[in-house]
Amino acid sequence: MVEIIASSQEAIDLENKYGAHNYHPLPVVLSKGEGVYVWDVEGKKYYDFLSAYSAVNQGHCHPKIVGAMMNQAKTLTLTSRAFYNDVLGKYEKYMSEYFGFDKILPMNTGAEAVETAIKLCRKWAYEVKGIPENEAQIIVCENNFHGRTTTIISFSNDEVARKNFGPYTAGFEKIEYNNLVALQHALENTENVAGFLVEPIQGEAGVYVPSEGYLAQAKELCAKHNVLFIADEVQTGIARTGQLLAVNHENVNPDILILGKALSGGAYPVSAVLANDSVMNVIKPGQHGSTFGGNPIAAAVAIAALEVVNEEALAENAEYLGQLFRKELSSFAETNDLVKMVRGKGLLNAILINDTEDSSTAWDICMKLRDNGLLAKPTHGNIIRFAPPLVMNEEQLLDCVSIIKKTIEEF
Ligand SMILES: *Cc1c(COP(=O)(O)O)cnc(C)c1O
Repeated sequence: MVEIIASSQEAIDLENKYGAHNYHPLPVVLSKGEGVYVWDVEGKKYYDFLSAYSAVNQGHCHPKIVGAMMNQAKTLTLTSRAFYNDVLGKYEKYMSEYFGFDKILPMNTGAEAVETAIKLCRKWAYEVKGIPENEAQIIVCENNFHGRTTTIISFSNDEVARKNFGPYTAGFEKIEYNNLVALQHALENTENVAGFLVEPIQGEAGVYVPSEGYLAQAKELCAKHNVLFIADEVQTGIARTGQLLAVNHENVNPDILILGKALSGGAYPVSAVLANDSVMNVIKPGQHGSTFGGNPIAAAVAIAALEVVNEEALAENAEYLGQLFRKELSSFAETNDLVKMVRGKGLLNAILINDTEDSSTAWDICMKLRDNGLLAKPTHGNIIRFAPPLVMNEEQLLDCVSIIKKTIEEF
């Protein structure tokens, strides 16, 4: 029998003793969530300002999403793709119309969807573009984050994520992010380029927003060279940045779109790759798959999660509250030496702490924010990401702004 956890310390001790130490969590043990709030084991209430890395855009335990999950769980959970089920097709049609692509390939986690996109791009390169077998190159960006699989960390330049996990997968060329000249140079001087894989905003790297026009012009350059533009919207998608997709800010239609995280509202691991027939039809039976990909619970949950995005106008709310948040914190930054700047789009934002990258200041601020009832986590050293659920209202946001200001003023 599983015993009931009596205290936060007990839960932390258990994880330390029995779990692999592959994370360094902020010391807070959560046991309940609702909307923009989470509660710890002792009953203390917090604003969630991370949203499980933008997976919980629709808010914790959204009743519509949980309801869809429970109904489906009572009816049919998994068939595998050895047989058809009566939810998957409905979900695929819904996705296709929702995002405007001919077809979807369902997976579970973000990293799996990125892997899927890479395989799809390579196969397209050999079978449609005519690149000689095993020669395809995919251009990626410095400081990217696309997940944790062996191939994906092969083209990361984060030494912590990479070191001693080699030998690495070949076939990737790294260029500077937000640099169109570098992209053009790579497209013109690299042989056999199949695709360009990019995050519309680099979330993990510290919420780096590229210059206006970067995505549109990058897409144009790719089209000119018959190279697939692959958008990893696992973190930026599903209304987070104030549009359904971050590429919508520049009216870009990616050749391959990668979604995950908030596709399920954080209720279940659901990811997907979308593309039109000219690309997606290169995949034939037996060439790719996943036992759980597209299972009935995932399909039902994702439909509900996407309906919530429309019904509650989450993109519009993220846009409105994002403007307000940056306005409030920018003027605060002018009066406070510790906050160098605030940047972001919609409700994906970050503040830069005016200290060295290896200092503990950002971590210490997050600890104090926790004490004051708001949960956030540093990304890279001195950057703190702020990404609350998109179901937040204006009054709650202003309350959070005052918690953040008050906390930083204490330093
Ligand atoms: C989180 C993330 C991933 C990986 O998703 P997992 O579900 O953790 O495998 C991939 N790309 C981006 C941009 C992400 O933020």
